[in-house]
Amino acid sequence: MPPIAFTPHEEQDNASDLTAQGIEHALQKTAPSQLKSASLSDSITQLPSTNPKHDVPTPLAELDASLLQTTYTTSPRPVPAIGSPEMTSQRVCSDHMIQAKWNSTTGWAAPTLQPYGPLSLMPTASCLHYATECFEGMKLYRGYDGKLRLFRPALNCARMLVSTSRIALPGFPPAELLKLIVKLCATDGAKWLPKDRPGSFLYIRPSMIATDPALGVQRPTEALLFVMLTCFPPMDGQPGGAKLLASKDDMVRAWPGGFGYAKVGANYGPSLVAHGEAHALGYHQILWLFGEECYVTEAGASNFFVVWRTREGRVQLVTACLTERIVLDGVTRRSVLELARERLVEGYDGLEGVEVVERKFTMAEVAEAADEGRLIEGFAAGTAWFVAPVGHIHFRGKDFKVPMGEDGQSGRYTATVKEWLRGIMWGTNGQEGHEWGYVVDEI
Ligand SMILES: *Cc1c(COP(=O)(O)O)cnc(C)c1O
Repeated sequence: MPPIAFTPHEEQDNASDLTAQGIEHALQKTAPSQLKSASLSDSITQLPSTNPKHDVPTPLAELDASLLQTTYTTSPRPVPAIGSPEMTSQRVCSDHMIQAKWNSTTGWAAPTLQPYGPLSLMPTASCLHYATECFEGMKLYRGYDGKLRLFRPALNCARMLVSTSRIALPGFPPAELLKLIVKLCATDGAKWLPKDRPGSFLYIRPSMIATDPALGVQRPTEALLFVMLTCFPPMDGQPGGAKLLASKDDMVRAWPGGFGYAKVGANYGPSLVAHGEAHALGYHQILWLFGEECYVTEAGASNFFVVWRTREGRVQLVTACLTERIVLDGVTRRSVLELARERLVEGYDGLEGVEVVERKFTMAEVAEAADEGRLIEGFAAGTAWFVAPVGHIHFRGKDFKVPMGEDGQSGRYTATVKEWLRGIMWGTNGQEGHEWGYVVDEI
């Protein structure tokens, strides 16, 4: 079978394709000028900015990073030492955060950069009751060349708009969100990722919640966007590879017509029972299966890849396709696929060439490949886990070893893709100037 065609799009358009209709609907209500950039309709943007007859509504204010109001902290906190409990607790954030408030009558207020600290919400706030929350996950990397970089951040900002649209949170120009993220990174990056810690990173968490203080089950009329930078441990180095527990038939992560494609909080809370069980049994992640056929979808909050040899003898890199929208369109997933299509198809450095395949595939196919000695490698790919080799899968009473490299290290396909990505993120391996690396100028 030839590799399934992958059509590259402009980065921003690609993510908005996912839910064109949902976005149009959300944007009409909340961020009319974005209809233009989403090339959905120009008409609403042509409303006059003043309206003497009061017969059409005044346009809502857009999120506008140039209006940023800055208040620096007066009590800066120490940066945890590498490997310290504070560094791994995922509780310590940098000195500042971004906030921006929205309401349905005036739109976005001027965003702020302010000291990191608690939010104040009414107990009736929509997000506390109806899961009107979504988020993104990115990293800020301190390069081996001394530079601070983001990795394809425009994709995360576009995906955030896909997620807000799915849960009736307001639209915004993704480029303005990116400017706010960059500003926060530029402000705290120099101190929190010191130049003598090349290869380190902070986790970036943009989030949006509905803050309406009314208990009615209805479209939110108030929202808050906020962004923080958190200390976070590397998670890609389980000795012997990650151990995955395949989900049981009484629990699914996502379903057609649901919201598995969006990074909404409602996808994660309900998965924690299974995740906790897996941990208690010594596994690192759930391998989420779908349907009676046991389609393989994702590993925890990462996309999942296998490398296998077909019965006909060809090597394939396989991951679940996005067509039913039960799988998240990961930036890492997309990047692995693009790099593999660009650099692995013809073979690389002694590695046999691969076909790159996005399709539905089942646990039975993985099991057969393992039993017949055709399974070559498996890995999970996502921002938090980076590229984590998988060494073991438990599927309903049966254990499969997934081959790894010598001494329990990454297999060669996994290691090769990972080195390419590492080079782009941290500016090494001759990848310093790669277009996916977004250099942040420090203040
Ligand atoms: C965030 C996430 C991923 C990985 O996406 P990246 O953009 O690569 O970080 C994969 N699956 C799920 C369910 C996720 O939440």
